[in-house]
Amino acid sequence: MKYDNNGFIPTIIQDSQTNQVLMLGYMTEASFNQTLKTRLVTFFSRSRNEIWVKGATSGNYLELINWSLDCDEDTLLILAKAKGPTCHSGTTSCFGEIKPCPSDTLSKLIDTIDERFTIPKERSYIQSLIEKGLPKIAQKVGEEGVEMVIEAMRNEPELFKEEAADLLFHYLILLRAKEVSLSEILEVLRRRMQE
Ligand code: AMP
Ligand code: ZN
Ligand code: ZN
Ligand code: ZN
Repeated sequence: MKYDNNGFIPTIIQDSQTNQVLMLGYMTEASFNQTLKTRLVTFFSRSRNEIWVKGATSGNYLELINWSLDCDEDTLLILAKAKGPTCHSGTTSCFGEIKPCPSDTLSKLIDTIDERFTIPKERSYIQSLIEKGLPKIAQKVGEEGVEMVIEAMRNEPELFKEEAADLLFHYLILLRAKEVSLSEILEVLRRRMQE
């Protein structure tokens, strides 16, 4: 990989769960190696002229998930899990609060659900559903479906949105419980569109 004449490589940080661009920083060879070793994104602060572990004072660390170089290897892209707002102004991204696209929100939710299935977490709603078993999860989807239908007949837009969200949430939990991915469902829909 190519560092510039001052030994820097521009580094784009992207949220591994939402794909949101969080910030741009500069790394040196030493800070990049430290990033790989500690799994915590470590820049070189050009203003302070020192190695900078992002989050060292704020606690808002960036956990390294993956990295890649661009086509001519002079720019680094890092996928990271953010431990808090990345911008020192308190926003998630240094580029302001851009509404994530629907599929980003869905994949983040799916990741969270998957995490609950793999690592049990105390006092988690999903965990308590898992413990009750598949029939209960399936039944919840039915209940939420009925609740959404009921709200569809009424004129309470906010309540309708709540029930629609409940249904989608439980639908995703049921998919995970059946070990079927949303991609597989979308594949079925794509196939139908071609027919
Ligand atoms: P932190 O690395 O989050 O503990 O922040 C340490 C200092 O780095 C802050 O006081 C800011 O001056 C600066 N800083 C933190 N986050 C950013 C950022 N995303 N972009 C530019 N400067 C930052
Ligand atoms: Zn390039
Ligand atoms: Zn910022
Ligand atoms: Zn409901």
